[in-house]
Amino acid sequence: MKAKSVFNGMSAYKPGKQIEEVKRELGLDRIIKLASNENPFGYSSKVDQVVKDSANHFELYPDGYATAIREEISQDLNIDGDQLVFGCGSDEVIDFICRSYLDEGDNTIMATPTFPQYKHNAIIQGATSKEIPLINGYHDLQGMLDAIDENTRVVWLCSPNNPTGCIINQPSLETFLEACPRDVMVVMDEAYVEYISADDAPDSLSYIKEYPNLVVLRTFSKAYGLAGLRIGFGVCDMTVANILNIARGPFNTTKLAQFAALEAYRDQTFITETVKTTNRNKFEFMEFLDRMDLDYYDSETNFVLVKLPVSGDSMFDYLLKNGFIVRSGEALGIPNSVRITIGKKDDMLLLEAHIKTFLRALEDDTV
Ligand SMILES: *Cc1c(COP(=O)(O)O)cnc(C)c1O
Repeated sequence: MKAKSVFNGMSAYKPGKQIEEVKRELGLDRIIKLASNENPFGYSSKVDQVVKDSANHFELYPDGYATAIREEISQDLNIDGDQLVFGCGSDEVIDFICRSYLDEGDNTIMATPTFPQYKHNAIIQGATSKEIPLINGYHDLQGMLDAIDENTRVVWLCSPNNPTGCIINQPSLETFLEACPRDVMVVMDEAYVEYISADDAPDSLSYIKEYPNLVVLRTFSKAYGLAGLRIGFGVCDMTVANILNIARGPFNTTKLAQFAALEAYRDQTFITETVKTTNRNKFEFMEFLDRMDLDYYDSETNFVLVKLPVSGDSMFDYLLKNGFIVRSGEALGIPNSVRITIGKKDDMLLLEAHIKTFLRALEDDTV
């Protein structure tokens, strides 16, 4: 059988090594995964109980409108409930956007490197991608504006950007939205918004009224710690939400995910604690990097992209042998770097010790 021609040269997402597999292969008792920007502190303790109490009757379909979580979020964000679109992770909302707004002959603009799902889904729709290189880890917003032509349908802004961690600040976003044609959709992917501590970060949601071409993406996978349940959402103008909901399957988020997300969202104390501890561990890790003379990108997230004098793969291999899974920059489009998710304090100290040994071995030329 013949698949769509755009599938030529594409491949399915290759998941990173699973913890159990690595343990077996290397004969290690304990593996610490700092590779996917998951929350090392888990999720709100209130989630387990509520899921136990309320998750039953699995023979029934979930609420396809996700009413309870929709009401909670819309009241909190002071928006209309119909401005929300829920996805099986924000990954799925990215897919809705591509399927609803991109066609053959269209183009879409994004930074490079950035989150790979924008381009992946755009290709499947037969659209072409214009990738504008980052400047020092930051979006080149003028370059992106200059790339817009009459066939441009969607521009992707990832803020904070994965894999660099850099944000688009409020004045820059405002200038961009003002200059961008109103018939071009602007997607602001804010998967790490909870971690931002910069004073000049934008309140993206406040721009949707004036710029109905803006879509903001949020997720329960990162600070909320619910990556395994797959739920995220988009916030946009109601007319856009109506379109995206046509592309959405009627029961795309599960009952469990809806219950858990509702409870997790209500427990903002957990989020405050997570962010406080993560940021403290991050700043201490940055101080360590400074002492080691290693440079890194500005990060407003729970990860740091560290610049190395050697390939990211070599540090990846070394840390893996010592029980740590990180992400090599080679795989992320930034050679000679590693992306490290900020973990618990003790694990970070252990990681620092291994990095120190690795750097010393480099100097002695023994790796
Ligand atoms: C993790 C991540 C997502 C995907 O999150 P899900 O809700 O788990 O699909 C989206 N965008 C960025 C930038 C991410 O890092």
